[in-house]
Parts: sequence; structure tokens; C-alpha cells
Amino acid sequence: MRLIDADKAKAELLRIGEGIHAYDEYFNGIRIGYKRAAHSLVTIPTVEERKHGHWLTKKAWHVECSECHHVLEFICDVKKYCPNCGAKMDGESNE
Ligand SMILES: [Zn+2]
Repeated sequence: MRLIDADKAKAELLRIGEGIHAYDEYFNGIRIGYKRAAHSLVTIPTVEERKHGHWLTKKAWHVECSECHHVLEFICDVKKYCPNCGAKMDGESNE
């Protein structure tokens, strides 16, 4: 996935639409299409890029998130996400 600035995308679509002269219904339709596409960008849900990390073993029975350094008591199951910052624990470990 490639995250983009929706406000800049909207401004660009409006700029392109305004550059099309409505000589006839065909070109007016294209211009209206750009405007509708620009205004529909506000209806698209926002996503947040999730951090990726890995568990660091600092001392016996404890692991530390590589992203926020939150320490968890390591019991039997290693969690797939950090409960503190939400980082997905699929990153490369350098240990
Ligand atoms: Zn974390």
C-alpha cells in the first residue's frame, strides 16, 4: 500500500478539472467527473500505517518491544502485537 496526501490529491483533481474548458457536453462531463472524484476523496476511510517491530529479550522472563520499549512479562505465548503501541511483531530481530 502507498499512502498519499488526500488533500493534495483532491487539490490536484480540482486543478485538472478546472483546466478543462467546457466547450460541449463531452468536455463538461469530464470536468464534472474530476470534481466528483475530488470530492469523493473525503468519503474514503483513513488508514494509519502500523509500525513493525520485534521482541527483544532483555532479561529472563521479560521481553521488550523494539518500537516503544514497553516491557512485558514473558509467560507462555508471545503476542503478535505490542499491547502498548500496537506494533506488529513481524520485524527482523538483530539479536
Ligand atoms: Zn510497543
